[in-house]
Amino acid sequence: MSYVIAIDGPSGSGKGTVAKALQEKLGLINIDTGATYRCLALKVLENSVDINNEEEIIKLSENLNIKMDNEGHVYLDDEDVSLKIRSKEVTSIVSPISSIVKVRENLVKLQRELAKGNKVVVEGRDITTVVFPNAEYKIYLDATLEERVKRRVKQNKELNIDMTYDEVYESMSKRDYNDMHKEVGALKRTEDQVYIDSTNMSIDEVVNKIISLIEEV
Ligand code: C5P
Repeated sequence: MSYVIAIDGPSGSGKGTVAKALQEKLGLINIDTGATYRCLALKVLENSVDINNEEEIIKLSENLNIKMDNEGHVYLDDEDVSLKIRSKEVTSIVSPISSIVKVRENLVKLQRELAKGNKVVVEGRDITTVVFPNAEYKIYLDATLEERVKRRVKQNKELNIDMTYDEVYESMSKRDYNDMHKEVGALKRTEDQVYIDSTNMSIDEVVNKIISLIEEV
């Protein structure tokens, strides 16, 4: 039987880490939808496409060849781009690119295709509302901005991405605002999501809470 665990939330709320733990514990396929937008942003940079050239960006979003494996690696045109898509440059343009309505249509199609017929955990901003509105389990994972910035600074250090606390704070607040005010696919809270504030929770606590929700049903 296939089912979908859909997790939405702002950057740094722990979606990626939690989804990976759920994938390992429950034997699911893990789909990081943010990575699909990041791959497109990388393509835009590598092809020197102007960020305001919507037509060209939409064209690039039509035939993306993206694969994800169970170790969290992301492949674009068969190249492992897992690190490249986390760069400062990609992060700074990904939110505006993902606001283009036609881009979202194309990438939502691709995300559904990646999930088709499997037991999946899918994380992003519009998974509970647009990509899988009929998901069996819907979670909104949150944390305060300060906590999320702290987590991202630590993660960046591990990935050798050189950004100060203030830079991450500024970039994340901007992205939060943009992600919550998109015309289509905005990050929002709804009544049918289970809301989890992870500010003072460990990863294990969040994961166990989600597993207990699944076992309740
Ligand atoms: O989750 P991550 O930070 O990698 O996502 C990168 C960006 O992609 C987000 O800031 C957001 O603008 C966009 N995104 C989106 N819809 C999703 C997932 C990510 O618009 N489902």
